Amino acid sequence: MEKKMICIMCPMGCELLVTKNGNDISVTGNSCGRGVIFAKEEMTCPKRIVTTSVKTEKGVKSCKTTIPIPKSLIFDCVKEIEKLRLKDAKFGDIIIKNVLNTGADVIITAN
Ligand code: SF4
Repeated sequence: MEKKMICIMCPMGCELLVTKNGNDISVTGNSCGRGVIFAKEEMTCPKRIVTTSVKTEKGVKSCKTTIPIPKSLIFDCVKEIEKLRLKDAKFGDIIIKNVLNTGADVIITAN
C-alpha cells in the first residue's frame, strides 16, 4: 500500500511517499529523519496537539495540550475541556493533568 502525505513537522512541508508492506514501512521524499518518524506515526498511531478554548467566569481562554495526543481521542479531549467550570485561569496554568491518560496536560496559552 502506498500513501502520499505532507510532513507537518516543519514549514518545509516535504511531500512524502509512504509504502507499507506488512510491518515494513519505507518513506521517500523526506529531507530529514523527522519525516520518517512522522510518516511511521501517521501510519500506525497518528497524533495531534489539541488547541481549543475553555470558558471561565472571567471570559474565554485559549488552551492546548502540551504534547500531541492520538487523533482518535481529540473529540473526547475537547469534551473534557468543555466540562470544566473555572473561576479564572492565566497563561501557563495546567487545567487538566494527564488528560485521558495520554501523558499530555492541557494548559492555558493566553491571558
Ligand atoms: S521531512 Fe524534515 S525537512 Fe521535510 S517537512 Fe518533515 S521535518 Fe521538515
